[in-house]
Amino acid sequence: MTSLDIAHLEVSFGSKKVIDDLSLSLKEGEIAALLGPSGCGKTTLLRAIAGLIQPNSGTIRFGAQLVGLSSVVLPPHRRGIGYVPQQGALFPHLSVAKNIAFGLDKKSHSKAEIEKIVSEMLELISMTGFEESQPSEISGGQQTRVALARALAVKPKMVLLDEPFSALDAQLRGELRSDVVSLLRAAGTTAILVTHDREEALVSADRVVLMRDGKIAQHGTPEEVYEHPVSPTVAMSTGDALVLAGVRYADGRTSSAVHPLTGEALSGEIGEVVIRPEELHLSTTASSNSVEGTVVKIDYYGHDAMLEVKLQKNSQSINVRIAAPVDFVVGSVVHVQHSGPIRFFAKN
Ligand code: ATP
Repeated sequence: MTSLDIAHLEVSFGSKKVIDDLSLSLKEGEIAALLGPSGCGKTTLLRAIAGLIQPNSGTIRFGAQLVGLSSVVLPPHRRGIGYVPQQGALFPHLSVAKNIAFGLDKKSHSKAEIEKIVSEMLELISMTGFEESQPSEISGGQQTRVALARALAVKPKMVLLDEPFSALDAQLRGELRSDVVSLLRAAGTTAILVTHDREEALVSADRVVLMRDGKIAQHGTPEEVYEHPVSPTVAMSTGDALVLAGVRYADGRTSSAVHPLTGEALSGEIGEVVIRPEELHLSTTASSNSVEGTVVKIDYYGHDAMLEVKLQKNSQSINVRIAAPVDFVVGSVVHVQHSGPIRFFAKN
């Protein structure tokens, strides 16, 4: 296990700056999830940490050890990193067992020890019995699992996972993710997990790192980034969010389509209000701070449902998440009330 300290990292391909003055620190044993739109530099950051590409400037430290700066200091194989690239990249000519054992030092491990580690890893990825299979004989999802096992077998100081679960079906994905996170935690391994899945980031990580255009837009605990986003864009990247036009008045009150003001409103600051759909509540009866609307669509997910409600006052449609069972039908007249933090972002 090791801590990670990246300072002012910059990586360019030709004239294109892909990582731009990026700084990030992780404590020993911390698991970070890296979330961001396609092309924002997530894989490039992992490859720089692994020593597979050379930064233009900045430093990368594992604990007190300087492993990377503009001239690569420590070669990839000496960094103690388990790297699972996006396409598992198994050795096609080696069996599953040999792929998993690939990084294990034959001098410091006996044949029996290697067999034991391989069999433990196969059990972890639910692939016991596949020892002698060739990569071409197993599915894409199974290949990813073998790549994961190969990375974890060497008990690395740090694990870098580039969307390792994306090829798996929902149930296997959830199970394997939970197993891998438990294993990383038990071993105290520092890890970075790249994912496009917002829930996966929130559920797996100690810290969620939101990247955009080669920079970090926000990082913090899952609760911090979800509850206190620094911008509407960040709010949308961690979960469903309603972004409504809003005004904040000098007396501290805020108005928006779901925050009607009573009394006289003075002049205020124009901006946007961010609301999570689960912070809105529906009722058949009106209250002093509710607004009226009509249910126009119901997406039922089993455990909950997302209702589209068209507000009577301005015809704006908003999404409201409610717990199942759903007591409304399309056409129901409802009263919408917000209870939760008011996240106001002034327009520049
Ligand atoms: P995705 O989520 O789609 O995997 P990403 O956030 O991981 O995207 P990167 O793969 O890091 O993005 O790529 C960032 C940018 O750098 C992209 O515009 C990509 O085209 C460019 N890029 C990546 N590798 C190279 C390379 N070897 N040479 C030139 N440009 C590259």
